[in-house]
Parts: sequence; C-alpha cells; structure tokens
Amino acid sequence: MIVKPKVRGFICTTAHAEGCSAEVKAQIEYVKSQKHAENGPKKVLVIGASMGYGLASRISAAYSFGASTIGVIFDKQASGARTATSGWYNTAAFEKYAAQDGLYAKSINGDAYSREIKDKTIELIKADLGKVDCVVYSLAAPRRTTEDGVMYTSVLKTVGSPYTNKTINLKDNTVGDITVEPASAEEIEATVKVMGGEDWKLWIDALKAADVLEDNAVTVAYSYIGPQITHPMYADGSIGKAKDNLFETAKEITAGQNGVKAYISVNKALVTQSSAAIPIVPLYISILYKVMKEHNVHEGCIEQMCRLFNEKLYSAEVQTDAEGRIRMDDLEMKPEIQAEVDTLWKEISSDNLDTHADLKGYHDDFYKLFGFGIDGVDYEADIDQNVQIPSIT
Ligand code: NAD
Repeated sequence: MIVKPKVRGFICTTAHAEGCSAEVKAQIEYVKSQKHAENGPKKVLVIGASMGYGLASRISAAYSFGASTIGVIFDKQASGARTATSGWYNTAAFEKYAAQDGLYAKSINGDAYSREIKDKTIELIKADLGKVDCVVYSLAAPRRTTEDGVMYTSVLKTVGSPYTNKTINLKDNTVGDITVEPASAEEIEATVKVMGGEDWKLWIDALKAADVLEDNAVTVAYSYIGPQITHPMYADGSIGKAKDNLFETAKEITAGQNGVKAYISVNKALVTQSSAAIPIVPLYISILYKVMKEHNVHEGCIEQMCRLFNEKLYSAEVQTDAEGRIRMDDLEMKPEIQAEVDTLWKEISSDNLDTHADLKGYHDDFYKLFGFGIDGVDYEADIDQNVQIPSIT
C-alpha cells in the first residue's frame, strides 16, 4: 500500500512503517555515536515506550549501556485499510534492530494504568530478567481508568481566571488570540489523577511488592516548567497541578521504597503527539526552535534523553538543581535564549511568521512523528503495513 499522511486536528491518522523504522534507526545511530557514561542501567522498564521521550529513553538505555529493555506501549496494529499507529511501527523497528544487535527487547501492549498490565509486566520481568534496575515513567495520556473502574479525563486548561494569549492555527499557519477557560476543581482533580504521580507510585509499589526491583533501582518521570509566557497554560495550569503532584510523588517514592531513588527530569519543550494538543505551546515551540537552532543548541527527544542518561542520571553523581530536579531544559531556559524568544513572541503575527518562528521545523517534526518526511524513504513505494512486533505477535 502507498501510505500518505492524513492529518485530523492535532494528530495524523496514518503512519508510515518504513519511515518510522528509519527514524528509530537514526535515533539508534545517534546514541551509538555519542560518548557513554561508565555505569548505566542494565535492565530497564519503560512505561510509555512507543513514542516521544519514552521511546528515546528506551533507545538511549539500550544503545548507551547495552541494557535489556521491556517497553509498555498502548498501540494498535494495522487492520484492513488502516495503518498501525506510529508507536506500533516504532516498537516493531526497535525490537528488530535490538535483536540484530544482540540486545534483549520485549514489549507489552495494553493500558499501563491497569492492574492487568502491571501484573503481565511483572510476570515478564520475573521470567526473563529477574529484576529491573531502572524504571522510566513516560506516559502522556488523555484519560485513565482507575482500578475501581472510574474513568478520569485530563484537561489542558488554565487555573483561576480565563487566560488570553497568542496561539498558532497550524492548518492555515495564522496567529490569533485564544482564550483558555479555567479548569473546574473537578477537572483539576481528574487531570492530577491522569497525569500526576498516583499511577507511577502504584507501579513502583507493585514492582517492589513482587520483588522485581533492585534495591538501588532508579526511577524517573518527566515534567516541564518553561518560561512565563507558557505558565498560565502549563506550569500554573491544570497540567502543572498534575506535574506538582508528580514531583511530590518522587519525594514519596524516594522516602519510602528502601533504596529506590525517584527523580523528575524537567525536559525541553518539543513537538510530540501530546504537546501538539496544548493551546499556545506550539507557537512557543516554533519560536523556541528558531532561536535554539540559530544558537546551535537545539535538541530533539533523542539528544535530550541520551544526555539525560549519560550526563545527568548516570554520571558519577546525579545532576540536579537545588530542589532535586534534573534540568534537561537547561539550554531552553538560558537567559539569552529566553530573551530572544520573548522579543519574538511580542512581535509575532500572521504577517511575520516566516521570520519569527521555525514553522518548517515544527511541521517537519510533526510529520516525522508518524514516519513521514524522512530522508531516504520512498513514499511512492508500495509498502507492507502489516508489520508485526516480534515479542507481541
Ligand atoms: P508522547 O505522546 O510522544 O508519548 C506518550 C507515550 O505514552 C506514547 O508512547 C503513548 O503510546 C504512551 N501511552 C499513553 N497512554 C498510555 C497507556 N494508557 N498505557 C500505555 N502507554 C500509554 O508524549 P511525550 O511528549 O513524549 O510525553 C512523555 C512525558 O514527557 C509526559 O510526562 C510529558 O508531560 C513529558 N514532557 C513532554 C514535553 C514535550 O514538550 N513534549 C516536555 C517535557 C516533558
């Protein structure tokens, strides 16, 4: 089948198997080309492993340290005329390359929030690895059904009073104002349930209770802070409340899990399937890309995660800020970068988008998430979309 992108709103409903495979390969090659820390994790569980920061974490652990990896994913295989999700193709490609390179890699497909998937993962760890020494928690989800059957839906809203600022309409590349309504107390609570730390702690407790966590294991979850212009929408918005809860959970896990250390890594703003859905943020990201590329300090997910594993988390001492957070947003938050972003933000309008933002970079990264626009891939070729994930099917 010849597969073309079909974009609906913030997502692309098709994915290109060959393109996803080429992108995974490029990420692997990047990690192979970098200098690696002396001591890294050997057996890693990645929850939310099929895209974005989770996939990049898996690749960084495997190809920096030869780590065995188990990835928990929530993806769909191809059926009829529908392609698989890009996370499915990414995982299939990762397992294929890992096998070629003699690395253990298996995946479990299902809802990471469920007890069933936690139990399945524990069984697999017991059978194949015995224990894991690192757990990456990289879920970004719109909803969560808790073990008592209640479904919570997260919202991307501000908190307090309505907030108006600029946003980009990526369909016609225009800039206009958007007013984001405040979340209700119930919506904030639901967002914390979905994107806060409760499920992370449930995972760590379950792994510990089943005795599949090494005593000195490390666990890391991802957060974002960003500059003032994004605060009402992010850090001080409903998602920010969930991230505050995630940070508190890290402290709880470290305090209570005899030897397990939990970290929050504050990552850079990047185009992923999840960030594309947040109002205001995509315009900020487009400006940030332009400024960071001009300063030669731009990074994607793989550069961020490779640096996290090799220079921050597994360096001789874990590198944190005064509050104990790992700051992968160090380059994004440099005063000279933020000063330029701020100037461009104030000036940007539909008329000067080309000079004030890296829209091409934004769009390219968005299509790449689904395997499109990747060098060396023949998009006119008839490809097999029924790709299997070796450990699943
Ligand atoms: P993403 O959408 O690229 O990846 C999320 C992953 O979670 C996907 O692999 C998806 O399949 C998986 N997932 C979702 N629901 C699941 C479920 N129920 N069970 C199993 N897997 C499930 O998102 P991302 O941007 O890489 O986000 C990962 C983390 O990084 C999030 O905590 C996010 O807040 C954080 N973060 C993102 C950015 C950014 O700019 N993208 C910046 C800083 C921090």
